[in-house]
Amino acid sequence: MQLSSLDVRRYDVWLVATTCLAFICFVIVALNVLPAKNDGERISDLAYYADPQATQTLPTLSSVPDGEWTSIQNPINLGMDHAPYWFRFTVPPTAESAAHYLLEVSYPLLDEVMVAVFAENMLDPMVTYQSGDGQQFSQRAISHRSLLFPLPDSASPLTIVIRAKTAGTIRLPLRIWKEREFIEHTPKQSLVMGVFFGFLAAMGVSNFFLFVTTRSRSFLAYSGYVFSLGLTLASLHGFGYAYLWSEQAWFQERAVALFANATIVFALIFTRMLLPIKRTMPRMERLLRITIILFAVNIVIGLFLPYAFLIKIFLIMLSVVVMLTLSLGVWLSLKGVVIARYFSIAWAVLLLSGLTASLDNLHIVDLSISSNYLVMLGASIETILLAFVVAISYSHNRDEMFDAQARALTEEKNANRAKEDLLEVQQRYQSDLEYKVEERTLELEITLRELSEVNRELETLNTIDSLTGIKNRRHFDKRLKAEGRRSRREQTPLSLAMIDIDHFKQINDRFGHVAGDACIKHTANVLKDQLRRPSDDVCRIGGEEYALILPNTDNQGARMVVENMRAMLEDTPIEFEGQQIHMTMSAGVATTTIAFEEHELALLKEADRQLYSAKQAGRNQVVAHQLLSE
Ligand code: GH3
Ligand code: MG
Ligand code: MG
Repeated sequence: MQLSSLDVRRYDVWLVATTCLAFICFVIVALNVLPAKNDGERISDLAYYADPQATQTLPTLSSVPDGEWTSIQNPINLGMDHAPYWFRFTVPPTAESAAHYLLEVSYPLLDEVMVAVFAENMLDPMVTYQSGDGQQFSQRAISHRSLLFPLPDSASPLTIVIRAKTAGTIRLPLRIWKEREFIEHTPKQSLVMGVFFGFLAAMGVSNFFLFVTTRSRSFLAYSGYVFSLGLTLASLHGFGYAYLWSEQAWFQERAVALFANATIVFALIFTRMLLPIKRTMPRMERLLRITIILFAVNIVIGLFLPYAFLIKIFLIMLSVVVMLTLSLGVWLSLKGVVIARYFSIAWAVLLLSGLTASLDNLHIVDLSISSNYLVMLGASIETILLAFVVAISYSHNRDEMFDAQARALTEEKNANRAKEDLLEVQQRYQSDLEYKVEERTLELEITLRELSEVNRELETLNTIDSLTGIKNRRHFDKRLKAEGRRSRREQTPLSLAMIDIDHFKQINDRFGHVAGDACIKHTANVLKDQLRRPSDDVCRIGGEEYALILPNTDNQGARMVVENMRAMLEDTPIEFEGQQIHMTMSAGVATTTIAFEEHELALLKEADRQLYSAKQAGRNQVVAHQLLSE
């Protein structure tokens, strides 16, 4: 709720300027427009007689001894009393000049007023009038907001008797006007009043529109306050009865209480809205709420209970409330709440003008202008100040709201930026990670490839016979199985040959093992060179024993291949250390189309058997046999 010091200075300037302007206007009006206060020069011997039992009537009044009359000063103010009072005073002769005279009782709230005008004696009134707001407005002698009575022309001084009875204050500001003076004065007064009520109405309407456009309820409360205040003052000055509810005497009786209570209700409502009471003083806030309810109840009660009773309650409650709100404002402004400062000044101005007016009414001080105008000035300045308070509060709240929005926006932006940063870091980490994983995967793949190459090499090495360089027994077993399956699947003949070098023991014995090994190698080369098909395979399966796999080859063809091998080996002796070593070989060939599981092993056995036959038959020969498929 704190405003910056710069703002405060800006507002102060406006505030002082506006208040000064209002005051200057008032001074100009006071000097030029307003008539001097009633000097009472035409009223003399003013005295009153209280009639608590209401026993006197106009004819019996002359029997009241002079001693029971008490002299009193004009304007009369006897405080609150619901008993009737009699007043008596003398007016100089009215027939001297050409002018007509009027008696004004300028307190329009009196309920019953009876005026009797006597010329010489007190027995026979020249004229009597009934007035007061207990009576319909149209029945008044002169239709005016004030109580006005035309005085008859008389060459001798007039004695005027007034009987006044009211539920409120016995107040009778009396004035004897020349008709011309009154006609001159009335428009000036109407102008001042018109400007004043026009000002209040303008403030009320403009703040109501501010409420409509901004939806800020403090404008509505203020508008309600200004309208109620205007109606209260209009009732007090008799304008309400004169122009608004002329025929409703019943309402006129209650109007002041009604509007005054409403004024306080609205004033308290916007006090509660504007001052930061809720946060700082919760108990005070509750008290304020209760007070608002009490005044609101007062409005309702005002429709049923008598005015005299109500107005007393109202005045007591009002004094409490004014002190309460004023001290609240002062307390908060001491705590540095700027709005509270203006608020307190506003209330203080109204209080001061009210107080001064009361002192003037009680003749404690003597003002040169009517106290009514002073109250109006106070109310105007207060209205301006409070309008300021509402406007400042609204603009401050709006600034605060904008600030809060801006703050929220920045925070959101920051949060978004942080989120984006986080996302970026996450993405960076993720791509880093992905890159690393890719790198590792690649390394792993390379390693795996290398490994599988090594494996393949190892496997090849495993299947190669180290002495001869041709395939070994291991390979032969695998190949035999694979070709067996193919033969069975494709129903093609599979031929096997078992080859053994003849009398190898003797070679070893004659030439030594090294020569033997060379022979084994030579034989392998011879066998290998005789192979024609890529699918044919020769393997070393024992010391000087070889095996041939000839897929998709019939017995005849296989036999021919092996026969060529035998012939070639016989024809190519090897040279070893200057000596020629001749070798021969025996071979058994078996052929079949594989028909069942492990049929190939039977085929191998058959080839072995044929080899044995070849050995038996004298060696250096090939024996072939076609094995039946079953
Ligand atoms: P046959 O005509 O009946 O086959 O007579 P053989 O002497 O060749 O008899 P067999 O096949 O039973 O004997 C094979 C001999 O071959 C046994 C061994 O002394 C010799 N031998 C086996 N492996 C090797 C080898 O790797 N190197 C050498 N130098 N000799 C071997
Ligand atoms: Mg052998
Ligand atoms: Mg042999």
